[in-house]
Amino acid sequence: MKRLVVATRNKGKIKEITALLSGLVESLSSAAELVGFPETVEDGNTFEENALKKAREACLFSGVPALADDSGLVVEALGGGPGVHSARYAGADGDDAANNAHLLAACRDIPEQSRQAAFVSVLAFVTPQGDEQLFTGRVTGHIISEGRGEGGFGYDPLFLVDGFDRTMAELTLEEKNSVSHRARAFVQFKEYLMACNKGLS
Ligand code: IMP
Repeated sequence: MKRLVVATRNKGKIKEITALLSGLVESLSSAAELVGFPETVEDGNTFEENALKKAREACLFSGVPALADDSGLVVEALGGGPGVHSARYAGADGDDAANNAHLLAACRDIPEQSRQAAFVSVLAFVTPQGDEQLFTGRVTGHIISEGRGEGGFGYDPLFLVDGFDRTMAELTLEEKNSVSHRARAFVQFKEYLMACNKGLS
């Protein structure tokens, strides 16, 4: 049976990744479902380092191919922040409301037209046979001053997507999965699997 472990407990990511992998993997498990799954310390300076670390630990733990997404928001006027610190920008891991409030406070004195930003996703794919691959996706936009929309997760309500008159949280799951940073990284991941004809064992 073709198996893949996804090294995340983030419910928002799991929902998107499950849809993005639909039809590709027969058995998909996430860190949230596997008892004793390691809690990777994300102490890298780059998305690449953190993604690889998470995927390697997940592969070692499960013995099957593992995929990890390390992602975040990069705001030019904040010197690239919160970047790799996106999940813990306001302290506690993954507290979206606190992170969004912290982002708005950090952007308070920056005019909206100068709040260019990007979501970045780096996918790391690691197999028990020692194959290690990285795929990067980006989507650009602007940080607005008041959250809009109920969809998605994280900073989505504050991120006005370039080319749309809507925030990421105002897009449907299908729309987000056609333009997002994560979706763009997944396109490359799928192309890689097809090019190599990699069987997920
Ligand atoms: P990670 O789990 O260490 O990769 O941290 C990812 C963090 O980046 C999340 O907790 C969010 O704060 C932010 N983030 C990543 N992807 C998205 C997205 O698609 N929408 C909104 N926020 C995101």
